[in-house]
Amino acid sequence: NLRVRFAPSPTGYLHIGGARTALFNFLIARKEEGTFVLRVEDTDVARSTQESVDAILQAMDWLGLSYDEGPYYQSQRTEIYREKIDQLLANGKAYRCYCTAEILEEKRQRAQSEGRKPKYDGTCRRLTGEAPADKPFVIRFQAPEAGETTFADRIKGTITFRNEELDDLIIQRSDGSPTYNFVVVVDDATMDINLVIRGDDHINNTPRQSQLYQALGYEVPQFAHVPMILGADKARLSKRHGATSVMAYKEMGYLPEAMVNYLVRLGWSHGDQEIFSMDELIEKFSLENVGKSAGVFNPGKLLWLNEHYIKTGDPVRLGDCLVPFLQEKGLDPSSGPALPEVVRTLQDRAKTLVEMAEGAAFYFKKELEFDGKAVAKFLTEDKIALFNELIEGLESLEDWNEETVGDVFKKLMDQHKLKLPAIAQPVRVALTGGTSSPSIFDVVVVLGRETSLRRLRNVLP
Ligand code: GLU
Repeated sequence: NLRVRFAPSPTGYLHIGGARTALFNFLIARKEEGTFVLRVEDTDVARSTQESVDAILQAMDWLGLSYDEGPYYQSQRTEIYREKIDQLLANGKAYRCYCTAEILEEKRQRAQSEGRKPKYDGTCRRLTGEAPADKPFVIRFQAPEAGETTFADRIKGTITFRNEELDDLIIQRSDGSPTYNFVVVVDDATMDINLVIRGDDHINNTPRQSQLYQALGYEVPQFAHVPMILGADKARLSKRHGATSVMAYKEMGYLPEAMVNYLVRLGWSHGDQEIFSMDELIEKFSLENVGKSAGVFNPGKLLWLNEHYIKTGDPVRLGDCLVPFLQEKGLDPSSGPALPEVVRTLQDRAKTLVEMAEGAAFYFKKELEFDGKAVAKFLTEDKIALFNELIEGLESLEDWNEETVGDVFKKLMDQHKLKLPAIAQPVRVALTGGTSSPSIFDVVVVLGRETSLRRLRNVLP
């Protein structure tokens, strides 16, 4: 049974890279009918906050990345870590180190000036006799000095480190708190994680972690290190390249399905297919098709995907998604036409929900704001004169739909030998306040009899 985990540190929002890692874990867990564990790595007390935990959970929820176990919190697991440190000490696989920060710094500088790679020299590893009383100490892992540590990475292939390159890792600080590389191993082992999928910024930790698994008597899990995400300039993705928080995109009017589709393609491919539903991803995702090199963040492609999902989305669902964006504009979504109808008229015209709310505002406004230029150009006396006939025609309709409304316009066009825009533009200004809107028949039909007639009458002299 496959067990994977996502292990965010709650020191900020969920960013694009973290979300992709979470998504890959989720997809493979669902595909293999395994278990997806969520673990909050909150041992850095100074930087971890509850707001960050909440923000990460919200973002996962928005993306639809449900987990099966957790969230577990490292801050609640200190007992287990202590136990495992004692175990290593008892087995002679860890030792107390009394070297002071000054001594270590001195040795580090000497190594550097002599052109050697700084590395703990093992002074305390070889201590014999009485332990110095009352002296502060850290606990170091007694790493193998010779040989190699190798692990098979499911994305990067086999990776080998020479053990002499790795020094004796500190696993407990002088204040008694365990360090990151140690707790990750204890957690992954005791949570029975058998595949670790994470960013390749952790690849240098993996040989040390692999040694720790063995020293603790655990089986080493499989690893899959996912390449970083870069900006267009090939620098590591950062705020300079635009928003990096997943939820910032929600606020900018992106749909979660667009974000998921975008994230998965940052590193994974399936032929030249671009559009994937979540179900399709669960079916098709595989680590074997994750590339070895970094993905480049491309906001234009994300926007393109969003446009696609808005165009093809279910109007009822899109209507629900639109609500907060209308409210944001001070509009009451229940005070106008049914939202799915509104959405239908705008799906081809908006790339984001923000744009859609912008385009939909006229349906909900109690008082239209008129664009002065449009009024001057289109609401001329001769055009307004036509409105009386139009109003009469519309008033007489029994059925209010695209066909019947269209017929009224056609009759008017025939009688006055006018083309559609000559009537449509003035009507558009009267009904929406401006010159840009969905098709005029859509507007009249969706706005409804009462509001349409009221707004037409409203511009009569
Ligand atoms: N907490 C680590 C991070 O946020 C993840 C460590 C891991 O996945 O092993 O980078």
